[in-house]
Amino acid sequence: MKTETILQAAEAVQQAITSHESELESLDRAIGDGDHFINMKRGSNTIVEMRGELESLAPDAALNKIAMKLLSTIGGASGPLIASFFMAMAKSEKEHGTDTPQKMAAAFAAGVETLKQRGKSDVGEKTMLDVLIPVSRKFTELANQDIEPKFIYEALKDEAEKGMLATKDMVATKGRAAFLGERAIGHIDPGAKSAQVIINTICDLATNQ
Ligand code: ADP
Ligand code: MG
Repeated sequence: MKTETILQAAEAVQQAITSHESELESLDRAIGDGDHFINMKRGSNTIVEMRGELESLAPDAALNKIAMKLLSTIGGASGPLIASFFMAMAKSEKEHGTDTPQKMAAAFAAGVETLKQRGKSDVGEKTMLDVLIPVSRKFTELANQDIEPKFIYEALKDEAEKGMLATKDMVATKGRAAFLGERAIGHIDPGAKSAQVIINTICDLATNQ
């Protein structure tokens, strides 16, 4: 992974989040407090605005700097969770690199694992992890086979969509939606939706590179 690739991904994600404003806002208004779009917008803006200070850094240092900054800029439950993801990605990038699909999948898995620990959460709890965990598992599985990258990205997009849609019928056991009990059923989790949008965007970018 090059630092420039990280910056390009951030720019694409910023646009994708912006174009899902009303959907993300209304999902969090239904089962949260309505700020999820603002939090994600603030996070992606922050990374894009850091271009000047990031572009000369090695990718692991850039990921670490992003993590520190996100901790203080994204509010809510999602801020520290997303920051922990970037921190673990940085560590994996530094120690093993990300120059093959296997190593990229390993870095992603390290990020997801750390987020899971930080959130004390797992699949089935109606959170962003219902997208991130199955996508990470699929990525590891496919990266270890001899499959053309574009087919891997297509499969990851499908997995993300399935995971996001599956949160609709779940009762939340983590985050603000947990207070709603059965009333959260019938609503997609906002964090799962933003995770799906981000994965979709990055897979499209990677496919077209
Ligand atoms: P807040 O809930 O503090 O308002 P956001 O609205 O930005 O923060 O983010 C809400 C999202 O965070 C939820 O939709 C869910 O996907 C995710 N989330 C909340 N708590 C957890 C947790 N413990 N583990 C993983 N994800 C979580
Ligand atoms: Mg919220």
